[in-house]
Amino acid sequence: MQISPSPRRSTARRRSEGPRRLLVMDRLLHIAPRDLKLLADAAERAYPREACGLLVGRSDGGEVFGVTHAVESPNLAPAAQPDRFEIDPALRLRLQREARERGEAVIGIWHSHPDGPARPSATDLAGAWEAGLVWVVVQVVAGQVVRTTAHCLATDGSRFLRVEISDGPGAAPDCAPRALDDLGRLGKGGMGTQ
Ligand SMILES: [Zn+2]
Repeated sequence: MQISPSPRRSTARRRSEGPRRLLVMDRLLHIAPRDLKLLADAAERAYPREACGLLVGRSDGGEVFGVTHAVESPNLAPAAQPDRFEIDPALRLRLQREARERGEAVIGIWHSHPDGPARPSATDLAGAWEAGLVWVVVQVVAGQVVRTTAHCLATDGSRFLRVEISDGPGAAPDCAPRALDDLGRLGKGGMGTQ
């Protein structure tokens, strides 16, 4: 006998392609078009080096992320290693402090893959030790942004899981804690029952 966590989930499961598909749609990143543009502009400017930075906002603990603003960091990786990135720890500390005052947090890391795949690399996985962050990868081919994808670390840390990106109206720049609740419900219920 199958035990369903909730009536909504049960309905969604029948209508969609099964539990695996539903889990994919449960993970959602809300980010405004202007923040996606900031990432793309920085990635193209840095090419053929990697651009990197941080995402500030709110998350529900690891599945739904709402970005209120994206910030570029200087890439502190040695110039001899163009396919590496290193975020400025001082920038991160400052953003964390400022975010906390607004009831927010640093919820994610973004970086570009110049002429690389649109997903985190084995090096990224090896360096991903923090749970609960969203990882955004900007794929740049021949100096042009081709694709932007989002991922989060599986709970056992063994791999990255795909996170859907939504840059629709839900990605309000000033989402209050209550609005994030609304976003969370919209992301899980609204998409899960399609
Ligand atoms: Zn990478």
